[in-house]
Amino acid sequence: MTEPMPPHVGRGWIEVICGSMFSGKTEELIRRLRRAQIARQRVAIVKPRVDDRFGRDHLVSHSDQRIPSTEVERASEILSIAEGADVLGIDEAQFLGPELVEVCERLADAGKRVIVAGLDQDFRGRPFEPIPQLLAVAEYITKTLAICMVCGAPANRTQRKVPGGERVIVGASEIYEARCRECFEPPAGPEAEGEKR
Ligand code: ZN
Repeated sequence: MTEPMPPHVGRGWIEVICGSMFSGKTEELIRRLRRAQIARQRVAIVKPRVDDRFGRDHLVSHSDQRIPSTEVERASEILSIAEGADVLGIDEAQFLGPELVEVCERLADAGKRVIVAGLDQDFRGRPFEPIPQLLAVAEYITKTLAICMVCGAPANRTQRKVPGGERVIVGASEIYEARCRECFEPPAGPEAEGEKR
């Protein structure tokens, strides 16, 4: 997987790693952050408080890669956490809301390398803000693909296996699975109605 190599130290930019669940986003984020640490860059890592599947003070990938992180409730808290860092990693960015776009832009403008990982589609297969907006302003984009749990093809959708119209139900393999375009079944009935956000 390609990642940008810094052409000029002190230049900032935004990288986005996005895809469905089980596509290896967090693993790829951790890999890039580890490499920055090996290069002795100062790294700060945050994730939203909503995601406490695997403990609160680490990013943990589904394959059990882990790296220490700080929880935030709002995107604006990232600005002070990023002070003094050369590289900022943000996981589960889809939970941080539209404010995250401006925060990432400010950090990149200030010369920081910002690496953002998140879901690009919700369980209905619709764009999951603010990832589409971040893709528009990012310098580098990586789309990760999972494996379809039905047919084994490359998968870019997240199938929810339990009913419920809320956009966010935190959970892992007991609630969600990766599906390809062909095997993905958009929710029918009341769940298909737009939810209040
Ligand atoms: Zn399939």
